[in-house]
Amino acid sequence: MSSEYPTRRATDEAHLDGEPFDPPRSLLTLPWVDCHNHAHTLSWGDRERYAISGCRAMVMVASGYHWTPYKPVRADDVRFLWDDVINRRRVIERNHFFETGLALGVHTGVRIEDADELLAAMDEYCQLDEVVALGETGVTPAQHVERWALDEQRAVVTAQMELAADHDLPVILHTPNDIDDGPSYREGVGLPGFEGNTSLATEPVLTGDNSALDAVKIDVEAAADAGLPEDRIVASHADPNNVDYLLGETDCYVSFTVGYPWLTGVTPVDVARAIDEYGPDRIMMDTDCANVLRTDVFSVKKAIFELYRLGIDEDDIRQVVLETPREVFGLGE
Ligand SMILES: [Zn+2]
Repeated sequence: MSSEYPTRRATDEAHLDGEPFDPPRSLLTLPWVDCHNHAHTLSWGDRERYAISGCRAMVMVASGYHWTPYKPVRADDVRFLWDDVINRRRVIERNHFFETGLALGVHTGVRIEDADELLAAMDEYCQLDEVVALGETGVTPAQHVERWALDEQRAVVTAQMELAADHDLPVILHTPNDIDDGPSYREGVGLPGFEGNTSLATEPVLTGDNSALDAVKIDVEAAADAGLPEDRIVASHADPNNVDYLLGETDCYVSFTVGYPWLTGVTPVDVARAIDEYGPDRIMMDTDCANVLRTDVFSVKKAIFELYRLGIDEDDIRQVVLETPREVFGLGE
């Protein structure tokens, strides 16, 4: 036993041998892109935390019914969400140094009255420089408040994909997670961690054994109908239920949402497995942080370290968190 330390007796340190773990210090300052969040709904302090943790750029998504005050939801309510994020983008950038791009969409998590009005208006929004994607959208097995028939949902998704194809924009797909039944809470509590009225969930319109995956397959068919190439789709909320289909059978990109594993079970371990199996080129990560959900602004930054611990090379991590989202969304050059 070495006696190089003047400790009273041998400590753990004196027993350490073998290969020292020598992590690349460059990971401490590796810039990263959050390719799906709702940071405009967070606090100033949360946005500062993105900056402090090296977030170089982000795609702020405006489409979710969570933020429309009225239910049922009308086209004008969603239009307000688009205008709200446009209104706030530049002052957010001015305060926090990172770059922002916007994704505007018609999400099918709730039925929207007069959705055609939105689709008609969308063409002009697509011409804005700050709009870097459409979405999040995609067929949803069950809605909030009011059911939306499958064929109508599919038509709304297809129409957005047609617009994306026309304007050469990527589409952020909301893929439903395959979520195990969690614990059951007292009546009236809802789902702790989600500040939404879960009692308004409707009966599903997709009822197969694996409706979460069925929904994604319908979306991919819709893209073909719309003339949108699969490599212009970023399927967000990738999980073990859909990743083999998306990376094995399509040319879509996937983005693992690592911001709320308490709900979805998705962690950097899933990301590492996908990189091992399919390579890093079509894989990204996002926080999907939103004020209605218990989410972690630091989750992608933490995942950078965890992926390295799990054996992923520094270059591959850089590809996933920086190079690929930079190319796909044209941000963070
Ligand atoms: Zn989202």
